[in-house]
Amino acid sequence: MDNKRGKGLSFAKRIYAPRIIGSGFGGIGLMAALYPLDRSAWVWVLLLINAFAWPHLAYQLSSRATYPYRAERRNILIDSLCGGFWAASIQFNPLPTVIIVSMMMMHNVAAGGPKLLLRGALAQLAGALIASLLFGIAFTPHTTSLQVYACVPVLILYPFAVGMVSYGLAITLAEHKRTLSTLSRTDSLTGLLNHGYWKDLLQLSFLKCQENHSTATLVLIDIDHFKNINDTYGHIVGDSVLRQLSKELKNNLRAEDLAGRYGGDEFCVILPNRSLAQTTEIMERLRHVFANFQYCDEPDLNVSLSIGLATCRPEFLHANMWLNEADKALYIAKNTGRNKISVGAADTLPESVLSGSSG
Ligand code: GH3
Ligand code: MG
Repeated sequence: MDNKRGKGLSFAKRIYAPRIIGSGFGGIGLMAALYPLDRSAWVWVLLLINAFAWPHLAYQLSSRATYPYRAERRNILIDSLCGGFWAASIQFNPLPTVIIVSMMMMHNVAAGGPKLLLRGALAQLAGALIASLLFGIAFTPHTTSLQVYACVPVLILYPFAVGMVSYGLAITLAEHKRTLSTLSRTDSLTGLLNHGYWKDLLQLSFLKCQENHSTATLVLIDIDHFKNINDTYGHIVGDSVLRQLSKELKNNLRAEDLAGRYGGDEFCVILPNRSLAQTTEIMERLRHVFANFQYCDEPDLNVSLSIGLATCRPEFLHANMWLNEADKALYIAKNTGRNKISVGAADTLPESVLSGSSG
């Protein structure tokens, strides 16, 4: 219910300024058309209220309502009812009447689509009927030049106000679309790419490598004995270890490197245009930094990483073969002591790293 109320409130706020402009400046055009007709004082009072007080009253009514959206739609129908009433009251003077009909159409279709447009048209007819019953049906075929000038402000300012509101709405929608698109690609805990999006990028990186005969290295990283960390220190500490690893990854990678969370305690990275030797050096640094990281709340917690690497090779037929190669390398790292780096069957780990890597 609160959510609905929020949406309704922003709807009421969006309509507030255009209604002030439309009713106020429209009222000036109506006064010019009403003046020669010698109407009673109460008609003038009603016009002044409608032109200058109604927009504020309408906003108060909708913003204080339990369901502001419903209240605002009712206000829009009152706008249309009044529009029809004034069109008949000025004896359908051509220019102000056309302005009323066209501005109401714009207002109603912008606020509620064809359904509100139809209901608004019926409300206008009802308004015109009420005024015709009160004042009789008459038609003034000419609009004087003074009346034309009195209509100019509403003709210019009201479409401008509606246009500005539509523009603001389009900007907000574009921002929401960008946020949603980012969220749908991001792992909420670590802020890295999520599994699905990373797999799409893996496919693209693979195709790029094969087409351009370029180099790229794929890395799978798994935290050693992560289940024990959760069991011993709790899942909150486990989560902070996952976040720390994502932070170290971001610190050690370039903007074009694609780091994701493959799932659970497993992370995945594609490093375009990086050789096996360069990637191994980066990962060895990461492994070392992470192994020596001190957690403030848990000083005796030590976390190590097992890492599997595979370069993209021309003989791979599809991206999954590349991924499987890195997976096998990770399996070897896990089964030969953990806390180390292993490479794919067709790759050779540089000698300098072999001697530096522990485990
Ligand atoms: P190994 O050294 O062989 O990798 O063993 P491991 O304990 O790290 O691996 P295992 O697959 O047995 O356990 C992974 C654990 O990760 C199990 C699961 O409960 C935990 N896990 C998965 N996702 C999350 C998460 O988002 N937060 C936390 N805290 N734990 C998670
Ligand atoms: Mg693990």
